[in-house]
Amino acid sequence: MNRRADNILSDRLPISFGEATRNLNRANVEKYQRRILKLSEQLIAGELSFTEWQREMAASLKVVHVQNYVLGRGGIDLVSSDNWLSVGRELKRQYTYLRKFARDIKSEKLSKRQLLARSQMYADSATTSFWAGEQDTAIAAGYTEMRRHLSAADHCEDCPQYAASGWQKAGSLPMPTQQCQCRVRCKCWVEWR
Ligand SMILES: [Zn+2]
Ligand SMILES: [Zn+2]
Repeated sequence: MNRRADNILSDRLPISFGEATRNLNRANVEKYQRRILKLSEQLIAGELSFTEWQREMAASLKVVHVQNYVLGRGGIDLVSSDNWLSVGRELKRQYTYLRKFARDIKSEKLSKRQLLARSQMYADSATTSFWAGEQDTAIAAGYTEMRRHLSAADHCEDCPQYAASGWQKAGSLPMPTQQCQCRVRCKCWVEWR
């Protein structure tokens, strides 16, 4: 069992609903990290063609982004058509990155190690969709203020400043993974009221 799944099932109870969903986001990201890494290993080994790899990567990205958005949003029944549009926009961005990645692989600019490391980051990007879902939930709930928290994990120089600013108007602080050097690896979280 991976470390995150272990956390969810730990006897350190009770944890908040928010923490449980953040753990699930992380567990799903790690699951897709393994899946995406495997695809890139299969590409390197010649078990997948370049086209197959691209198609499978895009399909995995789609599923993990949608799943983690819905998790942040609190369930599929709550996802509005506007929400779906923003999920689609994020996916479009991801597909653009993927095309660039594919071009870099084709031009043989990447070592095997770089290729695998970069592959892993693709699943991490789904945390952005998780937080987009959380934000849409807070907007729908009519919350007016937000506060950023650091997690116990490492963080960059930007994150503590966001956390130290305390309660701010909703929407005025960047969501975790945005505007910080940790980017998709940011482990901060947000409280609303
Ligand atoms: Zn950071
Ligand atoms: Zn952070």
